[in-house]
Amino acid sequence: MNGYVSSIQSLGAVDGPGVRCVIFMQGCVLRCKCCHNPETWEFGKGEEYTPERLMEKIRRYVSYFGSEGGVTVSGGEPLCQSGFVTELFKICKQEGINTCLDTSGCLMNDSVRELLDVTDIVLLDYKMTNEQDYYSFSGMHKSAAEEFLKELQKRSKRVWLREVIVPSINDNVESVAKLLRKQKEYPCVEKTELLPFHKACITKYDELGIEFPLKDVPEATKENVAELFARAEKLL
Ligand code: SF4
Repeated sequence: MNGYVSSIQSLGAVDGPGVRCVIFMQGCVLRCKCCHNPETWEFGKGEEYTPERLMEKIRRYVSYFGSEGGVTVSGGEPLCQSGFVTELFKICKQEGINTCLDTSGCLMNDSVRELLDVTDIVLLDYKMTNEQDYYSFSGMHKSAAEEFLKELQKRSKRVWLREVIVPSINDNVESVAKLLRKQKEYPCVEKTELLPFHKACITKYDELGIEFPLKDVPEATKENVAELFARAEKLL
């Protein structure tokens, strides 16, 4: 089974634990307003790989992974190519490489369950804490992410919840407290990360001729999100 890859980041330190090789899969069914990878949206583009040919690239970086690092498959939405990612992760597991899936959790079916069997850590991008905003912001229902999280809990997977904090949209303390409470509700969640919204992606939108829906919204800073996190923790 072949897969379509948008790009490969040889060594990254922000998508899961340790130093990781990050594979951005091509194709996504969502349209999140804050998406910083619009070049990954369209299906049928990207570079075609067999799992083995992609592994050949990954093997070049194994010596940098250390005890915590490994491979992260992101996107786009990796669940849209779950069969391919499963084959890739099976090889990783045979070679002792840690596997991490960065996903919106928009799909659950037998193929996704098979993928979870060979996934060590899930970075679940939780878009919003209320249903209406979730759908209008991403095109996906919050209930799908909840179902995904329930499945992860059932399997006692390691999970990091991540939410992009967008000023004036979801930068309110009650909403963040609601997100942090998920860690109690789902003990599989070992960490919650707030990611500051930024607009470095705007040139990609310009090149694609797509209007960036949040172009007039100010960026958030690391300090903004750290302060928000601290205030929300006090409400728990
Ligand atoms: S799921 Fe990810 S790749 Fe897809 S639109 Fe949302 S942020 Fe972009």
